[in-house]
Amino acid sequence: MDALRFLVVILVFEIFKFGFSESDARWKIYINKITEGVQNYQPCEQRNCSCYYRVLENDLLPFRGGVSQALLWDTVNRGVGTHYQVIKNKLYREGNCMFPARCSGVEHFILEVIDRLPDTELVINVRDYPQVPRWMKPIQPVFSFSKTSEYQDIMYPAWTFWEGGPAVWPIYPTGLGRWDLMRDDLEKAARNWPWGKKLHKGFFRGSRTSAERDPLILLSREDPELVDAEYTKNQAWKSEKDTLGRPPAKEVPLVDHCKYKYLFNFRGVAASFRLKHLFLCGSLVFHVGEEWLEFFYPQLKPWVHYIPVKQDLSDLGELLQFVKENDNFAQEIAKRGHQFILDHLRIEDVTCYWERLLTEYSKLLTYQPKKNNNYIQITRKQGKTEL
Ligand code: UDP
Repeated sequence: MDALRFLVVILVFEIFKFGFSESDARWKIYINKITEGVQNYQPCEQRNCSCYYRVLENDLLPFRGGVSQALLWDTVNRGVGTHYQVIKNKLYREGNCMFPARCSGVEHFILEVIDRLPDTELVINVRDYPQVPRWMKPIQPVFSFSKTSEYQDIMYPAWTFWEGGPAVWPIYPTGLGRWDLMRDDLEKAARNWPWGKKLHKGFFRGSRTSAERDPLILLSREDPELVDAEYTKNQAWKSEKDTLGRPPAKEVPLVDHCKYKYLFNFRGVAASFRLKHLFLCGSLVFHVGEEWLEFFYPQLKPWVHYIPVKQDLSDLGELLQFVKENDNFAQEIAKRGHQFILDHLRIEDVTCYWERLLTEYSKLLTYQPKKNNNYIQITRKQGKTEL
């Protein structure tokens, strides 16, 4: 009898070992990426925005030789952005702004730090798309919120951290904004949806700002149990062609994304504002493509904070299988991503980056800026940026 029991134990052990090593071998490539990623990761210890300094140093590198008045005025005259001046700790700008709510969002942060800024002037692009391709000579100093490595714009923290983000009816009728308040709401939602309670499903809601999102929508139509991904309307919506041949889906607020374990981020026209929100749900972020950046992206590391997905989504099926079979790894990545954004992308960090960026940029001006008499002064009241 003892011998029989012994044989059964051995058999069970062998079956278990075989099963384990099979699955282990299958996922070894991803497990190694995570292990190596975590080993090589140097966490940012600072509780200020200094983790991001490398980004602004790189962005300002092409201007190390100085920004002359002629170069600045050529940039202003190109008309790709709004011309701002800081003179004696007051903020001025040209009368027109293409997107007033976006300018207002930008002005909020400049006014927050204006007492500590030297006299300076700059061109801020409040369109979505960057404006300084690599081939441009001479390179013009244009501040944009997002770019790829094909552009030499200087990245600034987007207006939407305060106001002027996309208006999504009926969930964000006045535009996505107030990151500080969104953080609180998302933290609450994350508490209501702890990892163990979340649905084992991929989730995406958004409009077709880039066709790169199509494969996920199609996958969801094929296998709705695996992924729930649908296109919503945006202001440019004209027909069902813009929602890939189906009626637009109902909009889902970001807090309601938190009940899903796997959340997707894609580029839109440029980087999508959604990325930072997804981390705060405590869900696992699937970040598709790595071209489009905002100032804080380089501190987020693939396999450490999120799952990187190929732009054509060709590896998505396998990645979803991997995270389902390796829930502990998935949860650990989600936790690290969540913690990073909690610790290092506070509204104070955004203000701090603005201050450092403007201070370092101003040192590059080779002349003393003079106030343009036609410009209007922007105050907190006019800029509607009072708390
Ligand atoms: N959004 C949302 N729920 C929706 C649709 C959009 O929360 O049902 C948010 C989305 O997360 C993003 C913003 O609205 O932050 C704009 O999304 P869209 O997909 O239209 O454009 P994107 O900026 O991502 O290209």
